Amino acid sequence: MDGNYSQNDLSHVVEADKAHVWHHLIQHKQFESKDPNIIVEGKGMRVWNQNGKEHLDAVSGGVWTVNVGYGRESIVKAVADQLIKLPYFAGSAGSIPGALYAEKLIEKMPGQSRVYYCNSGSEANEKAFKMVRQIAHKRYGGQKHKILYRDRDYHGTTISCLSAGGQDERGAQYGPYTPGFVRVPHCLEYRAGDQGAPVENYGEWAANQIEEVILREGPDTVGALCLEPVTAGGGVITPPEGYWQRVQEICRKYEILLHIDEVVCGVGRTGKWFGYQQYGIEPDMVTMAKGVASGYAAIACLTTSEKVFELFKDNADDPLNYFRDISTFGGCTAGPAAAMENMRIIEDENLLQNCTDMGAYMLDRLGELQDKHAVIGQVRGKGLFLGAELVSDREARTPMEEARVQAVVGDCMQQGVIIGATNRSLPGYNNTLCFSPALIATKDDIDEIITAVDGALGRVFG
Ligand code: PLP
Repeated sequence: MDGNYSQNDLSHVVEADKAHVWHHLIQHKQFESKDPNIIVEGKGMRVWNQNGKEHLDAVSGGVWTVNVGYGRESIVKAVADQLIKLPYFAGSAGSIPGALYAEKLIEKMPGQSRVYYCNSGSEANEKAFKMVRQIAHKRYGGQKHKILYRDRDYHGTTISCLSAGGQDERGAQYGPYTPGFVRVPHCLEYRAGDQGAPVENYGEWAANQIEEVILREGPDTVGALCLEPVTAGGGVITPPEGYWQRVQEICRKYEILLHIDEVVCGVGRTGKWFGYQQYGIEPDMVTMAKGVASGYAAIACLTTSEKVFELFKDNADDPLNYFRDISTFGGCTAGPAAAMENMRIIEDENLLQNCTDMGAYMLDRLGELQDKHAVIGQVRGKGLFLGAELVSDREARTPMEEARVQAVVGDCMQQGVIIGATNRSLPGYNNTLCFSPALIATKDDIDEIITAVDGALGRVFG
């Protein structure tokens, strides 16, 4: 840890935090008997807490975010230089970093043409939902307004995003929900048996489930399908063979817009700029957030194809015929300035290739752990976006109970390695260890993570 902090100051920080901060996703009763973990500093792949304890961060800031690692002074400088020139102007006007980053981003996304700036993944998804609803009104008399989402996918925390949420605990007690969101089944091949699916051609079967929902609801009522390319908190679910081709066909057949939520996969996490590019998908709308500026600034983007954009340009005499939406802080210039430098780093340091290579290495190493520990039912992932599903009975694939999964996470933390686990919101399926180290990870970093997990599995399951 570089910073010079006095223990008194840090003790005060802990007290102030305990007295006044409402942490995200935390039951606060626990802080009556222990202190919160205050992360004080980061450098590269490592962070230090208030006790000066070093941790290897195998989850990029906890939630798949800090893709280029900590301590990137060039991003800080790019932001500072921009803030001195101009910190903010509402997004109805343009800005230099806004225009230049949009150009750069669209270069990486053939088929997309416009970038709408906002601040969080939830907000970007809300805006995509609004576009779908407005298109339904403009073109289909309001009828083609339903939005399909998938079991185990997550799209954010607002009421409409929760209405599109495939993780029930996140949504429970926050109803009534926004009408017009309809769930389709997940596509986790490892759990195909639980769905009563055939062993052969699971990918096609899972995609056909979506078509069944469309036919049941009425194709004239369905405006969009919103999916994660690789499901993140729902279990690191890589799509089965043939799934995406069939999904794309179904969307085209029924004129349903395909909205891909790249909030986690976007900007390098899977080893390509976007997760959808791994599977040959041609989306109509794409949302992204976490990796866009690796957490150095709050920025999210919604991109659309020119076809979607054009729909909002026709009938210019109609006073309602434009996207009547604003995000105040979508006009902050720090976001695109940070995002531009983030992208330069990924390109100049060849991090997409490193992500692909290190991801393959880590998947192999997790496979070795699977050979050694019967509690690992399956390992899966794409690039540096990996999961290990724990089971109490390998043959029956019985999900391991959450407390024991969390014990593995806790043991790794004790050893100074931060890993994650599937969201608690999946009763019965909160059993997957999650790994998403920064794209700069080396073999040594990965070996360190594997050694910690190996030790933890040995201790927890004896
Ligand atoms: N979409 C996905 C796939 C996510 O994982 C998340 C957050 O974890 C979101 C959307 C929501 O993003 P935010 O927390 O920035 O609102």
